[in-house]
Amino acid sequence: RRALERRDCYKPALTTDGQRIEVVANISDGDEAARAVAAGGEGVGLLRTEFLFVNRDAAPSEDEQVAIYGGMVQALNGLPLIIRTLDVGGDKTIPYLSQPAEANPFLGERGIRFCLAHEDVFRTQLRAIYRAASQGPVRLMFPMIALVEELEAARALAESVRQELGAAPVEIGIMIEVPSAVAMAPELARRVDFFSIGTNDLTQYTLAMDRMHPTLARKADGLHPAVLRLIDQTVRAADAAGIWVGACGGIAGDPLGVSVLTGLGVRELSVSIPSIAAVKAQIRTQALADNRALAQRALACLDAAAVRALV
Ligand code: PEP
Ligand code: MG
Repeated sequence: RRALERRDCYKPALTTDGQRIEVVANISDGDEAARAVAAGGEGVGLLRTEFLFVNRDAAPSEDEQVAIYGGMVQALNGLPLIIRTLDVGGDKTIPYLSQPAEANPFLGERGIRFCLAHEDVFRTQLRAIYRAASQGPVRLMFPMIALVEELEAARALAESVRQELGAAPVEIGIMIEVPSAVAMAPELARRVDFFSIGTNDLTQYTLAMDRMHPTLARKADGLHPAVLRLIDQTVRAADAAGIWVGACGGIAGDPLGVSVLTGLGVRELSVSIPSIAAVKAQIRTQALADNRALAQRALACLDAAAVRALV
């Protein structure tokens, strides 16, 4: 089976009834873009840029970031690179940037909120992203969008940076990982080119269970029907607005997650590099029609255990 997976890992993944599902990689380090391609990834669906900022004494310069992102664009050789802007706060702190102590960091200045509060850091990163985009297909993605006004503010900054550079526009998307973003998905969808569902945080914020909690984390299952119903709502809003939806949280690489997410209408799965071949192989064995039926049954379940018992 492994040999078969490896042989076919460079071909696109189509369901038995002909639906193409893009399988791309989650990466968080400089050399992983090349490894993602070698593993059969059709691009990068999530570059976590935090690695550039943590464990050092000062923020990376614009040129340093251009070198890293540009190197990835070259390694991808025409395949898309989705660069997520800095997602710190929460459990990830940056000692050289002033961050107030917070009683509930995961409900505090995290993700896009942090960037909007540290505009110099954000502008520098946006400049680097637009400059790297001149070398190949780069898309820009904002994390932790909870409010339409956050997206508007981030977009306005990105546009001002773009004009300053005289750079070409890039596609802009957002992570859907906060329940309020799902509630506002119709309005958000009209303002972006794509959604990527971050099921790790969406699960944590929907079930109000810390994803790292020593006992609760086990119960914080992204296949809980409460989460699946929000994913369903997100895809419907995106379809109505004519934009595509991907998923980049952990369940995108889980075998049952692959079936249910594609059955709900997710068309791009961004997974860890070692999962790429297996996810592609699985997609080829399944009919989208069957996955749709499975997803409908999952939506009607009472709890995550019942969803997991469906197969
Ligand atoms: C997520 O929240 O599902 C996600 C992909 O982002 P991260 O794990 O980096 O928070
Ligand atoms: Mg997240």
